[in-house]
Amino acid sequence: MFAQSAFRARCMRWLSAIGILLLFGGCAEEPSTLERIQAEGVLRVITRNSPATYFQDRNGETGFEYELVKRFANDLGLELKIETADNLDELFASLSKANGPALAAAGLVESTGRRTQARFSLPYLEVTPQVIYRNGERRPTRPQDLIGKRILVLKGSSHAEQLADLKVELPELNYEESAAVEVVDLLRMVDEGQIDLTLVDSNELAMNQVYFPNVRTAFDLGDSLGLGWAVAPGEDNSLLDEINAFLLRAEQNGSLKRLKQRYYGHVDVLGYVGAYTFAKHLQQRLPRYEKHFRQAAQSNSLDWRLLAAMGYQESLWQPTATSKTGVRGLMMLTLRTAQAMGVSNRLDPKQSIDGGAKYIVRVKERLPDSIEEPDRTWFALAAYNVGGGHLEDARKLTEAEGLNPNKWLDVQKILPRLAEKQWYSKTRYGYARGGEPVHFVRNIRRYYDILTWVTQPQLEGSQVAASGTHLPGINKTQLLEDTPPL
Ligand code: GLU
Repeated sequence: MFAQSAFRARCMRWLSAIGILLLFGGCAEEPSTLERIQAEGVLRVITRNSPATYFQDRNGETGFEYELVKRFANDLGLELKIETADNLDELFASLSKANGPALAAAGLVESTGRRTQARFSLPYLEVTPQVIYRNGERRPTRPQDLIGKRILVLKGSSHAEQLADLKVELPELNYEESAAVEVVDLLRMVDEGQIDLTLVDSNELAMNQVYFPNVRTAFDLGDSLGLGWAVAPGEDNSLLDEINAFLLRAEQNGSLKRLKQRYYGHVDVLGYVGAYTFAKHLQQRLPRYEKHFRQAAQSNSLDWRLLAAMGYQESLWQPTATSKTGVRGLMMLTLRTAQAMGVSNRLDPKQSIDGGAKYIVRVKERLPDSIEEPDRTWFALAAYNVGGGHLEDARKLTEAEGLNPNKWLDVQKILPRLAEKQWYSKTRYGYARGGEPVHFVRNIRRYYDILTWVTQPQLEGSQVAASGTHLPGINKTQLLEDTPPL
């Protein structure tokens, strides 16, 4: 009896000693995932090279995922290293490798099939899987309509998984997966009729719709899902907890919302129908005037895409556009502005674009020095639209509110007050339709963003846009009338 309990007691002591050793030894030798990353000082992230995730534009690396993950790395004081996977299978394989990247930020849906491959963060963007068809073809409206169609999806994607599940119910359904393509290719193939259908997430369509005038959503295949960042399945919780805390902060402080607006907000502005129209005009109209935009931009140190965005806002790139108020031509110049800019024929697109470029530069030069880029560009556009005097009034009201009169974000909030008597009666130049310049600037910025994506090196091959590095520009006219002599 005694011997037995002594034995037991000795065993207990051994066991607790081993436990303590394991505990302390474990702490000393096994830092958490987050501690390990922090010690290395580098956050390695794997992604897909696509417009919705990560790509290079004229200023370097960009994309929704890139920007979000860059902020995360900054918050942790880490250097960000981006790696790109050729396809989704490769992405998940690298994530699981010893010494692989810490996380995947690649527009990924947390699907059932991925449970063994990764662990996902809280969702940061809600998307809906959509069946995409070509305009003019018969529109499929339900899963049964997919039978007999040529369907191609990304290999290893959540959509391939969805189709595999669907095939259990609909054995006649056939589809192919490709590891050699990206979402842009799938949409192009539908646009050009090489395949009948594909499946992509709604955010990918939103990002790409403007390139492909013929693609349409047939129907949503299932409910909305969340995109999340993925970490390797065997890791402890330290990194995932940190990611989730960061995403919550980004949600609460509005930075996530602003990022979504920047990347996906053009759909709100254009609407899907506007996006098809823009895509059509991009193919049919812009090529006729691109050379003029580039030349005018170069001689005036502007970005040609900004000038092109202005031209789209003004006339939808139509050189013979006219309005009741007497403004005419591709850049909708008034007679007075045209004369002042040396334009003899406003309906000549080259002259109109040159005149517009010179005029926006002039409007910009007249702005107070305290307004810096990139805000300076947005203010110039606003002054072009509503007049320098009214803009100055709005800046004064902005300052009186305790906001920053040199920040477009602040002044645009106040501009609509110029249409309300209680406010405009106190200003020097009085009533103005102050909401208009806000829309005007917002639209041009959207068109400008779209043009920037469309002309990015990744999509354009070697034809990298050769343009100035600063943005803005423009011109118009009633302004001149409204603009007090500066
Ligand atoms: N979100 C998809 C996935 O998780 C990839 C992008 C797409 O095909 O739209 O596989």
